[in-house]
Amino acid sequence: MSEYHSMWSELGLDLDRHDGLLAAVGPAYESVFLSQPDRPKAMEYFDFVVGEVHGLRIQELVEHRRKGGIVVGAFCVFAPEDLILAVGGVPVGLCAGADFAIPDAEQFLPRNTCALIKAALGFKLAAVCPYFECCDLVVGETTCDGKKKMYEILADHHPSYVMEVPQRKTDQGRALFLEEVRQFGSRLEELSGGRIEAEHLRHAIEVVHAKKRALQRVARARRARPSPISGLDALLVSQVSFYDDYPRFTEKTDALAQEIEARVAAGQGVAPADAPRVVIAGTPAAFPYWKVTQLLTDAGAVVVGEESCVGSRYYDTMTRANDGTRDGQLEAIASRLLDTHCACFTPNEDRTEDIIRVVRETQADGVVQSVLQFCQTYATESYLVERALEEAGIPSIEIETDYSTEDTERLRTRIEAFVEMLRQ
Ligand code: SF4
Ligand code: SF4
Repeated sequence: MSEYHSMWSELGLDLDRHDGLLAAVGPAYESVFLSQPDRPKAMEYFDFVVGEVHGLRIQELVEHRRKGGIVVGAFCVFAPEDLILAVGGVPVGLCAGADFAIPDAEQFLPRNTCALIKAALGFKLAAVCPYFECCDLVVGETTCDGKKKMYEILADHHPSYVMEVPQRKTDQGRALFLEEVRQFGSRLEELSGGRIEAEHLRHAIEVVHAKKRALQRVARARRARPSPISGLDALLVSQVSFYDDYPRFTEKTDALAQEIEARVAAGQGVAPADAPRVVIAGTPAAFPYWKVTQLLTDAGAVVVGEESCVGSRYYDTMTRANDGTRDGQLEAIASRLLDTHCACFTPNEDRTEDIIRVVRETQADGVVQSVLQFCQTYATESYLVERALEEAGIPSIEIETDYSTEDTERLRTRIEAFVEMLRQ
């Protein structure tokens, strides 16, 4: 990757620390992913993307900007990716999933802040994320208190924009968010010098839909018994979806879906048909955070779904049919975004119903609620989720963890015991 040093330097990265980051992620990826038996051949593309995650893809973004295009980073699926695409921009997901730069963030944030918030700010402060440095604008949202305060600090370091997300899906909440979507569109027009026309939105919605349909296809094939793809590989595909070029990602994910559909037809799986099947529900697992999926896999379970924003909470939300006008489409986009069952909403029964739907569809035997430590919304909601799962006769456990490896062995013991219980 040394061939990219001059590009990283021009982006303002701290090259020594950045080399340290790559040196940590590379071997971890090899031991977790490349060592898996019976991987679909189509996963080679995703391995290549990870191998080039700070190389070729960044080169593409730099080239896009050189031609006058904009790059917009987001921390949450509430950022309307279709609007960014509609002005010819490139949306990228920025939520870092590693604890590499957390000490940098802790100079500004309380230690009892969730790892995702600390990593998001830390990667900027440590100058180790080339995606961040490619962003003309980063867009945040008011989904939780820690995040919204972090954005105030981030604004001192990077051009930023914050969208207000309502806490209730009432008529007033919907009207507020629609106005937020409109205003964000105006900001994008100002930044890009373009205008969001109805046909741009139609095309952008279709591009996003194609990507989500490909992800849904993989999710459907994954439901087979035995499952044709490991939970780790399926999670990786979702993680890559936030970085990669949309049409290319769609094509490669469709190719993967086709291959694993053929595996299903041939009865070929990555684990025995009677392996315990688990859905992970909770806070999103941003790249390169695989801890819980890895522990479940090590314990002999198959992860068959993620009820998370790096999972079904993202790819299952589609923009509803509308009148095709600019206003009609903006309204449909805002409404789709509010269909994301984030724990920021109150009440949020839609989410518990959705978790049960995912469990039924995937024929899962149990649920692991995976919550990042210090995430008040998901941690508190976990009680209501557990109660609903219990009423539905679905076994579950809740684990609170972070990006470090300190608790790995303690979690391993709990997860092994849970998987063993599911076997009986
Ligand atoms: S869990 Fe909530 S805050 Fe986090 S990415 Fe999803 S919608 Fe956004
Ligand atoms: S995991 Fe929880 S605390 Fe952390 S950013 Fe997401 S909603 Fe906020």
